This record gives sequence, C-alpha cells and structure tokens, in this order.
Amino acid sequence: MSYHYVLPEISESGKIGCSLPALDVPPTELPPKQLLRQELELPEVSEVELMRYFTALSKLNYGVDTGFYPLGSCTMKYNPKWHEDIARLAGFASIHPLQPEESVQGALQLMFELEEYLTEITGTHATSLVPIAGAHGEFTGLLLVKAYHQDRGDKARKKILLTDSSHGTNPASAVMCGFEIGVVASDGEGNVDMKDLESAMNEEVAALTLTMPTTLGLFDPKILEIGQLVHERGGLLGADGANLNALLGQVKFGELGYDYVQLNLHKTFSTPHGGGGPGSGPVCVKENLADFLPSPLVTKNKGMYKFVSPTKSIGRVANFWGNFGVMCKAYAYIRSLGAEGLKEVSENAVLNANYLKEKLKPYYYLSYDRICMHEVVFSGRRQKAKGVHTVDIAKRLLDYGLHPPTVYFPLVVDEALMIEPTETESKQTLDAFVEAMKEIARDVEENPEVLHTAPHSTPVRRLDDVRAARNPDLRWHMRS
Ligand SMILES: *Cc1c(COP(=O)(O)O)cnc(C)c1O
Repeated sequence: MSYHYVLPEISESGKIGCSLPALDVPPTELPPKQLLRQELELPEVSEVELMRYFTALSKLNYGVDTGFYPLGSCTMKYNPKWHEDIARLAGFASIHPLQPEESVQGALQLMFELEEYLTEITGTHATSLVPIAGAHGEFTGLLLVKAYHQDRGDKARKKILLTDSSHGTNPASAVMCGFEIGVVASDGEGNVDMKDLESAMNEEVAALTLTMPTTLGLFDPKILEIGQLVHERGGLLGADGANLNALLGQVKFGELGYDYVQLNLHKTFSTPHGGGGPGSGPVCVKENLADFLPSPLVTKNKGMYKFVSPTKSIGRVANFWGNFGVMCKAYAYIRSLGAEGLKEVSENAVLNANYLKEKLKPYYYLSYDRICMHEVVFSGRRQKAKGVHTVDIAKRLLDYGLHPPTVYFPLVVDEALMIEPTETESKQTLDAFVEAMKEIARDVEENPEVLHTAPHSTPVRRLDDVRAARNPDLRWHMRS
C-alpha cells in the first residue's frame, strides 16, 4: 500500500500544511490547560503531502465513473454530468423553499411538468414528487392504500401480499405502515403462482405489491390476470417501480392494471446513487388514489403555478417539497432524451442483459432460462458443488477491476448472482466482463484456492464482514 494512505506515518513535528491569513481580531487566551486535550496528536504534514493523501484516498473509490458496476436491482448506470450543471443553475440551486410562489415560477413549472411526464410514462392519473427515496415512495403508496380503504369504510384489510422474490424494503415498508405481511410463492418459471395467489387473496388483503419486472428480472405474462383477481376481491395492485429500465417507453403500469407505482429517480432518471442519497421516489397513482396524495402537488391556473393540497390528502411525508435537485436532473434527462430516446434506453438495457445471459449460460446455472428484462439472475450452484461460493466469485471479480454483481439476492435463488449491466455499457465492456467470468469458472475447476483467498490486488484484502458488523471500530487510533 502506498505510504500516502497513512497520514500519521508521514507526520513530522513542525511541518505546516497551510498558511493562515493575518489575524484581524484581538487574540484571546487559550482555555486552561486541564481543558485542552493533550492526547489528541494531530498529524503534521506539508500542503503537498496533504494533497497527495486526499488524492490517494479518492483513488480508492470505485464508482460508475471508474468501471463496470453491474449491481442488480440498483441500476448503476452512467448519469450525464451535464445534468448536474442543470441542477446547479442559480435559479434552481440558490432559491429558498419558503420563497413566495410568484418568485419561483420556473422551479414550480419544472415540478409541474415533471409530474406530468411521470404520469404519462407510467400511464397513471397524478404524481407526487415529494417522497425522498424508493422505500419512502413505497411507504407513501401504502399510506394511500390505507387511506383508500378507510375512506370506503373497509376496515378488515390489514394485510399486504408480497412475492417471495420481493426486495427487502417491500415488507419493511408494509410493516412501517402497520400492515401484516402475506407471501405469495413464485412458480417454477419465476412467475406468480396463481393458485397460491387465489388462496391468499381474501377480504383481509389491502394490496398486492408486485415488482414488474419481478426481482428475478422477469416479466410476468399473467400480470393482467393478476390485477383482475386482486381487484375482483377488493384489493389494490401496487408496483415497486424502483427499476424502470426495462419498461421505459415500452409499456405503462397503468395499462398493466396497477393502481399505483413508486419510481426511483436516483436509479432510472439520472441521479447517481449509493452512499445514502439524495434520492427521490415519486408516487404515481390512478384516479382512485389521487385525492389522497401527499401535499403539496403543483397545479397550473391562469398561467401561474401554485402548490395545492389534494382534498383528502394524507398530509406531508417530507420536509418542504422533496429533493428538488434530483427532480431537476430527472427533468433534464427526460427532456434531453425525448419519448424515442427513453424507449431506446429500455431496449438497450434489455438487450445488454440478454447478451450477458446468453454468453454466460454455458458457465453458470440459469434458474429461469427465458428472456430476461433489464437484469439476469444466475445461480452459483455448479460452483458451490466444487466448494466455491458466490461470495468467492464476487471477491475474485475485484481482482479484475470489476465491481461484482448483487449476490445472495433474490433469496429464492440459491447462491444468487444478479447482474444488471444497464444500457450505458458498450459491447467491449460486456465482453471483458464475460471473459473475467469465464476465467473464474475455469479457476473453479483448476485452481479454486485463488478464489478462496481473493481479492489479491485490492488495497485491503478480504474483510471479516461479521466481525465488522458485530464489533465496528469506527475511530482512528494513533499507532504506538
Ligand atoms: C433500490 C430499490 C428499492 C429501494 O430504494 P431506496 O431509494 O434505496 O429506498 C426498492 N425496491 C427495489 C426493487 C429497488 O431496487
């Protein structure tokens, strides 16, 4: 490891890394000695050493801008830098959330039009931009479900049905809303098991949350039938639309029978993500849920844009108006691509995933051998039989300078490897990934030890995840 990473080791007493401006206030005495922390030995380095230290640290980061990042259910795609410039325009970035509406008409217009675009893209009736994450959008959608049933005086519906491939946030959001959970099984093809849904769908069920494509990366061809059954029995159908990369411009949730869907602007619509935000999880709803949407929505009246609250609104779900900067980037993305461009996004995303599926199929077990959507789920069970686990494959990919796919999720696939290449990757990049995966499959047969001890070329070797989680050591200690 480069010495630049270890600041205290290049520290030498008397080195100074910055020159402070001349004092322009009267000097004051330091507090009494017993209040000063003698043991806090700060490193003393020169300016150039400090610069090298931070630059070296920054190079430890791995991101979409440094390499391929095929993390399934995450859509780690390239986000045009120009959209950041748009979000930073003074008229967007320097306004205050409490400014009078007349003075921020441009920002309101952007929100109004974004609401309209997302409503159109999802084939729904109205959109709230307020929720600030995907899970928060799920939570908001479920609050709408609750309000809808309460408004009709239907008090028995206290359960949310989910599928066994669901994203972990789906049950968490339902429980946060005070619902009970019921799980519907997948059938042998990775679709909803209709018999299981038939028996589970009773008068206690408020809604079925069904990601489409499912978290197995598959489109369920029985979706219209599923919606019909749920509605006939008085329930609602909600989509976790966090990953819209397969459907964008192809098919609309509203036309598939959904009552509402939450989107992740920070996955599909040009905001980089990971590291905890900022995000945006708009909720798009059909007419039956529109009156309950959180406040505020933006409307246009006589050429003026205004915030309004729907008649039976569930109230506020976030401070102010949501994450406005993320909305600016989504708006720029939609406007710069246009309807045709959005359609091309999903075509290429699906093409790239199917390309990887076909190329890797001879080497890794494919649980559901059919056309996939924006991502493909393999199982490492062949490799497991040779004593190599999916985690070893993931760690070995790091030696190739590649970020591993999502592993051990969805839970219904043994030793899952969930690969989402996204539309922004070239054939060369996909081919390099395929080559790495092929070499790894060969090493499983011929040299499994190299997998068990991977990674070898990273600044830190394999970490003990369990110990790190149980006994986190988050404070820097001076080496003695
Ligand atoms: C990412 C994701 C979520 C959660 O989104 P957050 O913004 O992280 O809360 C929910 N569902 C699916 C399917 C996802 O991929």
